[in-house]
Amino acid sequence: MTSPRHESPDDREIINAVDALEDEAVDLLATMVGFDSTLGNEAPAQAHIAGVFADLGLEVDRFELDLDAIRDHPGFSPVDWSVAGKENVVATHRPRKGGGRSLILNGHIDVVPTGPADMWTTPPFSPSIREGRMHGRGAGDMKAGTVSYVMAFKALARLGLAPAATVHMQSVVEEECTGNGALACLARGYRADAAVIPEPFDHSLMTAQMGVMWFRVHIRGKPAHVLDTSAGSNAIDAAFHLVAALKRLEKRWNALGQRHPAYADFEHPINFNLGLIEGGEWPSSVPTECRFTMRVGFFPGIATAEVRRAIERTIKRASARHPGLRETPPRIEYAGFQAEGCTVDAGGEMMLALADAHQRVIGSDPARQATTATTDARFFNLYGGIPATCYGPRAERIHGIDESVDLASMRDVTRVLALFMAAWCGLEPAA
Ligand code: ZN
Repeated sequence: MTSPRHESPDDREIINAVDALEDEAVDLLATMVGFDSTLGNEAPAQAHIAGVFADLGLEVDRFELDLDAIRDHPGFSPVDWSVAGKENVVATHRPRKGGGRSLILNGHIDVVPTGPADMWTTPPFSPSIREGRMHGRGAGDMKAGTVSYVMAFKALARLGLAPAATVHMQSVVEEECTGNGALACLARGYRADAAVIPEPFDHSLMTAQMGVMWFRVHIRGKPAHVLDTSAGSNAIDAAFHLVAALKRLEKRWNALGQRHPAYADFEHPINFNLGLIEGGEWPSSVPTECRFTMRVGFFPGIATAEVRRAIERTIKRASARHPGLRETPPRIEYAGFQAEGCTVDAGGEMMLALADAHQRVIGSDPARQATTATTDARFFNLYGGIPATCYGPRAERIHGIDESVDLASMRDVTRVLALFMAAWCGLEPAA
């Protein structure tokens, strides 16, 4: 006996439909992890996901990242690398009858560099399953999340159903360095009643995210032979002098009285990371040049202009106390993240609906968590008027060596997203 198609399946039917796709989900994840989609290499992975979207019968919009279209936007982050040919992919489902609330499901295709490949147990772009976890760069951050929303949509389709509202599935570039990919989608006009990003946040609902800024400092010293160091000015020593001053600023921003309430209980919410440094010419010469790049975090509600002023003031004052820097002041340059922090209304309808879907799958209320990182959720929340959060699987060592994602957790996120989509958008018979 076959049961008739109906528009309100119970949770069990939807969960079973998700689970029936589990092997396919794991295969898709392995394929996605197999693409090295580090900065500048996103194209093959984007082409693949565009094909996956098309196979779902969705309308697919592939468009090049056009910096001129977003350059004047307050959420824009300048870059000093080429974005030529770099594409976002957005798939759209349009309902036949409609009447539900629209939704954006967003994931980023870019992954961070692997670090030394020989430190990995298995090569970073050769996905490998061990003890229920898929290992590989990007497995957790965040290809498993993208697979989850694709499979959630597909599970509903297998039941002969589709969301009764417009759903945009976005696979964007440059989340890990600027966010310009997600910003470009907003600038292209993509809007919805809510947005969910399945970043690997271990089934918690994100309630706040930190602001993040990258900046580079160029220092010029004065050349001299190492035997006569007093005649020169050591650019590398000067860099450490500036880094020490910036670390004191980090300490002040972490002070309890200075904190945004969402981060009151954190051990060390503000992190300044000296991520890159290069300089010097010769072991027996006083280095004449040094450049360093730092990533700084800052609380929601603080404008990027204010952060730039604080950084510049700190560097200026520290330079005044240093003979070499006093003579040749350092130059500061901003490229990469100029990202404000944001908060999410934990009592909003989208958050409640997502928490309810989680409860129905996992059997408990999800944790609510502020993150010390940035995510693309800021664009929706700050500039799109679209409530957005992150809710995704359990992953380990993202941005580290031997990154992995828990496959049972990916399946659970898929179940939650399918139930959430059904509740948020409503369902109608598929075309
Ligand atoms: Zn991520």
